[in-house]
Amino acid sequence: MPLQFTFMFKRKDLEGIREKLAEIVGEENVLTGELETALYSYDASMARAKPCGVAHFDSPEQIAPVVKLLYDNKIHFSPRAAGTNLSGGAVNLKGGFILNLARLDKIHQIDTRNGIAVVEPGVVNLALQEELEKFGFFYAPDPASQKVSTIGGNIAENAGGPQCLKYGVTSDNLLKLEVVLPDGSERTFSLDDPGFELMSLFPQSEGTLGIVKKAWLKILPIPKYIKTVAAHFPSIEDSILAVTGIIAEGIIPRSLEAMDKFSIQAALKGLERKIPEDTEALLLIELDSDDLETLEKELVRTGETLKKNRALRIETAKDEKEREFLWKIRKESYPALARMSPNVMVEDGAVPRPLLPRALKEIKEILNSYKLKAGLVFHAGDGNLHPNVIFDERDLEETRRVRKAGHEILKTCIKLGGTISGEHGVGVEKRAAMNWLYSQETLEIFRKIKAAFDPDNLLNPDKKIPVSKNQIPKLEREEPGLSDKAKDLLNEMKFRDKTGERTAISGSGSKLNPREIPGNCKILKTAGLDKVIDLDRENFTVTAEAGLKISELRDLLRREKLSVDIPEDLNGTLGGMIASREFRELRSLLLGADLALAGGDLIRLGGKTMKDVSGYDVLRMMIGSRGTLALILSVTLKIRAAGSQKRDFKRPGEAAQFGDLHLKIKQVFDPRNLLNPWIMQDKRIG
Ligand SMILES: Cc1cc2nc3c(=O)[nH]c(=O)nc-3n(C[C@H](O)[C@H](O)[C@H](O)COP(=O)(O)OP(=O)(O)OC[C@H]3O[C@@H](n4cnc5c(N)ncnc54)[C@H](O)[C@@H]3O)c2cc1C
Repeated sequence: MPLQFTFMFKRKDLEGIREKLAEIVGEENVLTGELETALYSYDASMARAKPCGVAHFDSPEQIAPVVKLLYDNKIHFSPRAAGTNLSGGAVNLKGGFILNLARLDKIHQIDTRNGIAVVEPGVVNLALQEELEKFGFFYAPDPASQKVSTIGGNIAENAGGPQCLKYGVTSDNLLKLEVVLPDGSERTFSLDDPGFELMSLFPQSEGTLGIVKKAWLKILPIPKYIKTVAAHFPSIEDSILAVTGIIAEGIIPRSLEAMDKFSIQAALKGLERKIPEDTEALLLIELDSDDLETLEKELVRTGETLKKNRALRIETAKDEKEREFLWKIRKESYPALARMSPNVMVEDGAVPRPLLPRALKEIKEILNSYKLKAGLVFHAGDGNLHPNVIFDERDLEETRRVRKAGHEILKTCIKLGGTISGEHGVGVEKRAAMNWLYSQETLEIFRKIKAAFDPDNLLNPDKKIPVSKNQIPKLEREEPGLSDKAKDLLNEMKFRDKTGERTAISGSGSKLNPREIPGNCKILKTAGLDKVIDLDRENFTVTAEAGLKISELRDLLRREKLSVDIPEDLNGTLGGMIASREFRELRSLLLGADLALAGGDLIRLGGKTMKDVSGYDVLRMMIGSRGTLALILSVTLKIRAAGSQKRDFKRPGEAAQFGDLHLKIKQVFDPRNLLNPWIMQDKRIG
């Protein structure tokens, strides 16, 4: 039985609002009829909820007045674009209005000199790619839904795709956003804004914090040479082991996609070409470079690794037509399954890459125990897995089994240190699962962030965060324990919270001017909080305590023939590096962190997975926070094989200024202004 939600907006008020909306967007653009609203009561997930009306837009300038009207009248509203969301994000759970942004599809500018495209939110991802191709450029995020899904929807979900392994997900490719906030006010957020990174909150916020009106996207020149390889394997497990082998070689392919026989056969149905009997899985590998020699060397090493990992045969696409065919197998797997059965549930967990084989084993057992059929497709390089379960939602008993199996798959991902969503979001479908992943303290921070932007819960209400605070316990997860020093610091913060004592957080002290610290602040040093907690050579991640000196991390990695993309001239501690926002690329290195709140509560964010869109992106928001939000206890960073050190880094703008939204966020984290209180003092917090 699909999820259904009740109509809560009073019909008698509808006519007046309809008229006012029509004054802004035009009579023909406001729909309130039974059939018309029914068409907007679903997206690509199983959630259903009928809105009271739908507003279409002909110009982005209409968004703010519409939002203000609805906000002032306390009417719920949800932004929507192509409606390909797989977690119920694009339906309005309170029977409010759907704001359909799909017609806002202008590409305003393609600036190849500075690598920027400026677009409206309804621009379809593939339409942008086709336009960019004319200039020899591309936009990295390439979700499998790119033929229809929009840039606004991609931003709201922080969409990923095959190319994201090398070039990053949506949030890694955003430079600036124009946003309409829930009250109808307009703001611009960019990577160069002063203060901590507020822009980080919008990708993966699932339309709950603001509506993207215009976006400035990073675009890249299409690499000169691209090679596409399909490796056949006797089992999906072998294909996944080959993925770990390739990454361990220090090769970062453009894409590394795995799929099982069921998915391949579905995709090839009706086509001339068949796969050999013994092929149980395909691994699609794409390598790119501007230097042919480098590319060919990588191709040879990739081939050797594939053979070592039991590849049965390796095909390299000879021309663009063959490349397109290989990608067709991957991209057709979902539509083909959708043709085979009335419904497909696309699950979307992620685990640390080396744990994919364990996850796979457990997922197969779960599917078997619930007697379900699924095609298995993986963004294997990212550890992001999609079991695509086919079923018929009219069969209530089968649908119940599908839901239960989905929950068990997510629990498996959590148990392995992973997450409940690598790219499709939480929406309504996974709200309950948020309790399994996060502590109640962390969920409370997410709730307060939502309330700071939208106190009346009007914009895309009741998404992403569990509605009832029913204390469903967090599951046991493969994650490191806390050191004695970290526990001491948490206890000390609890104590200071009770006494109301103010704290000045000090790492190595290199960035703290002692003359700045007011007399009523007691210093809390992270010295001694300096252990390397986990160095995972297969996953290419390091987790270390925040007081560790960057130089010590560099030395350790050098000894292990590894490196980290931190500017050579940067010193101080890891915590200080994040708090003071030293280089723009840091945001793409950060995978996880443990934070201590002013009251001594522990907040654990992210981990060793490459992708995680489950909560609000508080992790990246910590960049530039200068100890005003929380004490950073530990961090998990991406690392790489030595010899491929990145050299060009961008220095962002001045981090030491804060605006009114920063102050609202400060209230969420540290309402009594106990942490580094002087830094935002001129704004009179506390
Ligand atoms: C076949 C298929 C394949 C898919 N493959 C992938 C994949 O490879 N990778 C991936 O990441 N996802 C994938 N998805 C999921 C989905 O396509 C993405 O989440 C996509 O980003 C949604 O875009 P949309 O335009 O359809 O947005 P919608 O579904 O209309 O909306 C998605 C969410 O964004 C919000 N929203 C929409 N526009 C705005 C805006 N302007 N401002 C603020 N909020 C907004 C909505 O409220 C909603 O919460 C796939 C889905 C399908 C059906």
